[in-house]
Amino acid sequence: SAGKIGDELDLQVYAVGGFVRDLLLGTENLDIDITVEGDGILFAETFASRFGCRCKGHIKFGTAVIVFPDGFKIDVASTRLEYYETPAALPVVERSSLKMDLYRRDFTINTLAIQLNQSDFGLLIDYFGAQRDLQEQNIRVLHNLSFVEDPTRVFRAIRFEQRLGFHIARHTENLIKNAVKMDFLHKLGGKRLLSELVIIFKERDPFGAVERMANLGLLRFIHPVLKLDAMNRRLLEEVKPVISWFELLFLDRKYEKWVVYFLALCEILTHDEFIEVCKRLAVSEHYREKLAEMRRLGERVLDAFNRRGAKCRPLQPSEIYRLFNDLAVEVLLYLMARTKSEEAKKALSLYFTKLQGVHTILTGDDILALGVARGPMVGELLEQLLAARLNGAVMSRDDELNFIRQ
Ligand code: ATP
Repeated sequence: SAGKIGDELDLQVYAVGGFVRDLLLGTENLDIDITVEGDGILFAETFASRFGCRCKGHIKFGTAVIVFPDGFKIDVASTRLEYYETPAALPVVERSSLKMDLYRRDFTINTLAIQLNQSDFGLLIDYFGAQRDLQEQNIRVLHNLSFVEDPTRVFRAIRFEQRLGFHIARHTENLIKNAVKMDFLHKLGGKRLLSELVIIFKERDPFGAVERMANLGLLRFIHPVLKLDAMNRRLLEEVKPVISWFELLFLDRKYEKWVVYFLALCEILTHDEFIEVCKRLAVSEHYREKLAEMRRLGERVLDAFNRRGAKCRPLQPSEIYRLFNDLAVEVLLYLMARTKSEEAKKALSLYFTKLQGVHTILTGDDILALGVARGPMVGELLEQLLAARLNGAVMSRDDELNFIRQ
């Protein structure tokens, strides 16, 4: 139907990029990108009105998003060569051909297009040897200045290599090494660098990418002392099974997986160095403080475990609850990967599986109704009651009532 509308408007319409790459690889990808030779916004608006979708256009970039009633989105772009900003004028988007548009992309494997117009529906367009590179599993740039033009492509190359199990082609790898040697990556803004790292840390298995980043000498562009040594290497490897365990157990739990990896990568840094990394990555001051606090609290909890001698009595569930309950999920997972103490691991596991979310049946009002005077005593009783429940000393509402009455 996209092709039909293209025909009506006399526009050439193509599916492009990652969607076509993954189609050929047989991998599911629901991010559909459409490129229109000509006015992409007109196409998107016509499509949207015909199929009851919403459409948001950006005239400046010649792009639009079509949003279906169920939230499904299609990105639409117009082929463009460049936009020029002349003084006191709006930027002008100069239209170009599909081929020129695809030439501006990062890697050959992302340059495939499929014609959607009815007369040539399904025609695969491959200007830059993408099919061969898909077959030979190569990540290859389109020209020598690619990484100079946009250093984020270095991280994208590593991400695709690791995700697809491909390899960065030799010449492309040399271009990366050259960009590293010439310090081009210092030009990369903090926000963009962070966003590349976050995407890498959200991949299924980020460790390989981190290792590749370390081997190519990229970590120093995040911070001069950041490296992969025995300590954070072990930790980063340990994060994956912890996360798999957690995700299996709590399928729908929202959390920031990238934070767990980020904390693990930065394990070897001092507090001041960690703050410098956050500043380099343009992490907002608020979030920077939050992350630093996570590290601090996590450290304190692990210290508490490490100080405990082998002869100590095991911690009560209520004590474990108190230790962990103020910590964010991300820190708990980081600690689980990090600690070598079996006792700490068991405690964390118990907290996740049995203790978090436990609450008393009685409320403050119930306790007041039992004749306890309003004041701090109510809070203390609720806390004791919760501890008793966590430790299995009370199980039912009657147990709780008896506990308060005693
Ligand atoms: P993913 O599966 O990770 O979403 P994708 O290929 O769809 O992979 P996007 O980041 O969504 O990647 O980008 C969409 C397309 O835009 C890519 O296929 C790529 O061709 C192009 N692109 C994205 N970033 C760049 C860049 N920095 N330089 C050149 N082209 C880029």
